[in-house]
Amino acid sequence: TSLFTNVPLAPVDPIIGVSQAYKADPSPNKVDVSVGAYRDEQAKPYVLKCVRAAEERLLGATKEYLPIDGIPEFNLASAQLLYGKAMNGQEKRMVTVQTLSGTGAVRLGVIFIRKYLPAGTTVYASRPTWVNHHNICKESGVPSAEYTYYDNKNNCLNFEGMIADMRAAPNGSVFILHLCAHNPTGCDPSKEQWGIIADVMAEKKHIPFVDCAYQGYASGDLDNDAYSARLFFERGFEMFSAQSYSKNFGLYGERAGALTIVSHSEAAIPKMLSQLKMDIRAMYSSPPTHGARLVATVLGDPALRALWIDELKQMSGRILRVRKELYDALVARNVPGDWSHIVKQIGMFTYTGLSPAQVEYIVKKYHIYLLASGRVSIAGLNSKSVPYFADAIADAVK
Ligand code: PLP
Repeated sequence: TSLFTNVPLAPVDPIIGVSQAYKADPSPNKVDVSVGAYRDEQAKPYVLKCVRAAEERLLGATKEYLPIDGIPEFNLASAQLLYGKAMNGQEKRMVTVQTLSGTGAVRLGVIFIRKYLPAGTTVYASRPTWVNHHNICKESGVPSAEYTYYDNKNNCLNFEGMIADMRAAPNGSVFILHLCAHNPTGCDPSKEQWGIIADVMAEKKHIPFVDCAYQGYASGDLDNDAYSARLFFERGFEMFSAQSYSKNFGLYGERAGALTIVSHSEAAIPKMLSQLKMDIRAMYSSPPTHGARLVATVLGDPALRALWIDELKQMSGRILRVRKELYDALVARNVPGDWSHIVKQIGMFTYTGLSPAQVEYIVKKYHIYLLASGRVSIAGLNSKSVPYFADAIADAVK
């Protein structure tokens, strides 16, 4: 007997489950469009050139512990990257700590919400959203709820529904908003719509928690992609932001990210930092060195930074091109239905609108692995696999 025989098996994460099935499939035709990670035209993982160059410079760097809140240059550069000129002169009412990538930033922020916002404050996430938002709230003991986001029938944003849910939520609720390239739908509010969202959030005293997993990776333009966070900042919100360098630097496994909290009160900042450090200390003591050093090196060197921006344009450009190729291939095959959402959506993912039954058909017959929700990682496709995928969709919807 064991103390642990009653431990129930946890459900498999839907994304990880599909990726495991892909790995186990011996078919030579198999295609993986389930995982949210960039692949090059040869369907291979890609290490950015700016990262390689930074790695050469860092060879032999010490392995000493970092401060509990991470590398100061990394933290400042992260806040500046996201908030841009908007934050000039306002640094003293912001606190940034290095985190275990975007996930760690969301987790630390949600713990802070539980401890220091009024009891019962609910965290709202879009329906649908990155599944981990709800896992994190649940595991952190914070009530979470959904707000309307996607119109499944018309494959677009349900903006009226979103605004209505923001109005209906209790004043002072936290709203997780995706900075850009919404995961999983690839569907973002327009600039005008962001303005209205900010109006309603202000009226309702809601608190934006901006999840920034794709800055620069959506449009290839770092400033354009940061629009929503800067808007909230400029409008004077107290807010949270979680930054991930997984996608835009290709640093997935290095776990480089940052949490920033913006306050109205400069005096509150040292106390907030002290509490964030307490939580970090109790959870994992200090963050990992390598990824944050790479980011700080690239962001701090004009030549490497320029190279990075160029590579962001290449990665996002390839994704935009593949989107267009997929759309054209579906039109060329006269696949019934309107597929224009594929080219209207932005970022790594397209929400195809395929039903779970159609997805299952494609996975079984074509060995193309996508999520049951119909989410496809465009980055997993290339000019070679697009025609094959378009054939599979044509077959599945006919
Ligand atoms: N938030 C969103 C919306 C994401 O899509 C992701 C990654 O897929 C993350 C956060 C966090 O990723 P990571 O912890 O790898 O930085």
